[in-house]
Amino acid sequence: CGIIGYVGPLQARDVVLDGLTQLEYRGYDSAGMALLTEEGIYLRKKVGQVSSLRSICTEDVDSHCGIGHTRWATHGGVTDANAHPHVVGRVVLLHNGIIENYHAISVQFGFEGLATSETDTEVAAQLINYYYDKTNDPYQAIRNAIRIIDGSYAFCIMFDDRPGTIYAVRNVSPMVATTASQGAFIASDVTALIPYSKDYFVVPEHHILTITADGIRVETMDGEEVQPEILSVNWDV
Ligand code: GLU
Repeated sequence: CGIIGYVGPLQARDVVLDGLTQLEYRGYDSAGMALLTEEGIYLRKKVGQVSSLRSICTEDVDSHCGIGHTRWATHGGVTDANAHPHVVGRVVLLHNGIIENYHAISVQFGFEGLATSETDTEVAAQLINYYYDKTNDPYQAIRNAIRIIDGSYAFCIMFDDRPGTIYAVRNVSPMVATTASQGAFIASDVTALIPYSKDYFVVPEHHILTITADGIRVETMDGEEVQPEILSVNWDV
C-alpha cells in the first residue's frame, strides 16, 4: 500500500526504510526492500512491521539505488514470499494495486508453475522480464507489458543490469515524485517526500519515468518527453 524509490548520494537503505516508516499510516501487512549493489540485488522482505524489516537489513550494504514497499495483500496470503519486491530474471518489481487479468496472462504466456509467489504482481514481473529478454530494452519491455496488463497499478521497476536507474509507471494507483538536492525520489504520497523537498509532481498516468541521480525523465508511451507541473506543499515540516 506504500511505495518509495530513491536514487542519489545517500545510502538507499536508510532512505527506503525511513520512507516506509513515513508511509506506515496507510496500513499494511508486510514490508520489503530491494537495493541495486555492485554485488547484485540485495532483497529483504518480511511479514509484519517496517521495524521487523529494518531488523533483518543489518548488513553493511553500499547502494545508492533502491525501492521499498508496504503491502496490503489482495491476491495471495500474507507471507514473506508474497511480500514485494518480486525478482524474476533480471527484473525487480514492486506494485500497489490489482492486476485484473493476471491469470489470463499467466496462462497465455506459460508462466503457470514458474511463480514463486501467489500474487497478481509477480505476473507483471514475469511479463516485463519476458519482453526484456526479447528486446534488452527497458522501455520496450515496460511498454509491451503495460499494453497487456489491465487493472490498477503503481510499479517501480529495476533491472539488475541497469545500475542506478528506477523505472516507474502508474494507472489509477497514486505516485508522486521529486528531484531534490539529495537525489531523486518517488513515493505513493508526499509524506515520504517532504523530508527532502516541498516541491513534487504527480506522476502522470501511462507515462514512463526514468529515475537516476541526474533527475527524473517523464515520457509518453511513444517516448516523447513531457514536463509535469511542479506542485508545492505549503505547510512546514
Ligand atoms: N495486489 C498486490 C498484492 O496482493 C499488491 C497489493 C498492494 O497494493 O499492496 O501483492
